[in-house]
Amino acid sequence: MSAKKLEFESIYFDLYELSSGIFAAISAEKLPTSNAGFFDLGNFLVIFDTLMDPYSTVDLLKASKQFTNKDPSFLINSHHHIDHLFGNRIFPMNIPIISSFEALEQANESLDTRFKNFKERAPAELKRTASELLTEKNPNKILELKNDINTWTEISKPSFNLRLPDFIISDSFTLKGTKNQVQIIYIGAAHTKGDILAIFEKEKICFMGDLLFEKTDPSWVTNSNIAVPPNPIQLRNTLIQYAKKDIEIYVPGHGNLCNKKHLLENAEFYDEYYIKKSQ
Ligand SMILES: [Zn+2]
Repeated sequence: MSAKKLEFESIYFDLYELSSGIFAAISAEKLPTSNAGFFDLGNFLVIFDTLMDPYSTVDLLKASKQFTNKDPSFLINSHHHIDHLFGNRIFPMNIPIISSFEALEQANESLDTRFKNFKERAPAELKRTASELLTEKNPNKILELKNDINTWTEISKPSFNLRLPDFIISDSFTLKGTKNQVQIIYIGAAHTKGDILAIFEKEKICFMGDLLFEKTDPSWVTNSNIAVPPNPIQLRNTLIQYAKKDIEIYVPGHGNLCNKKHLLENAEFYDEYYIKKSQ
């Protein structure tokens, strides 16, 4: 099986069709951010994660409409981190947002802080972005800066809000469409306190969220901006367990499409830097 890169104009991601109806948006190298996906199940369109920049989520919705001719039926948040959840707010309220109970709890806990942080940063970010725009020559960067200005302007408005998940799961389930079938697997505490992933067994494709990164970096251990996984043992074991499955394409939360080798490298990384060190 091989992923087919599609013709789609976005400064934020490259779009791949991994199998009929199963799409991955992989952050373009020029502008690294998180990954997402969308699944045409026939009678349902499922969006898997949003992207940090609201305009990348706008592009994601545009791509899903263009390639499936459907509007989203559900949105899934693989976990509560803001780079996967920020785009929630552009989904109409009649579209359920699915997450684990723990993801909702964590998102809810950090909501006020995040909200305040965005509001406080807005005036300075607007100024900074506007002055960067004056000298920028790269057309992609210009578009990005213009989108950022729109975003910070929106954040400055009283109507700005963040949207939490509202369809809460604490177990795995299957979405059986008329065309494709996806299993949503509840992992529990690993990268965060409540991770979920999406697996297409027949097509041998797994969307791992941040349970998997294309690249890991030992400097994360000492970087206070990078959250320590609450359960590195479960994270390592999940990676080893999923590497043994009959899967050909693994979609990581960040970086390019992965294979089994990446899962084992990630497992080794958590073993080396988070598990052995705490023993
Ligand atoms: Zn994350």
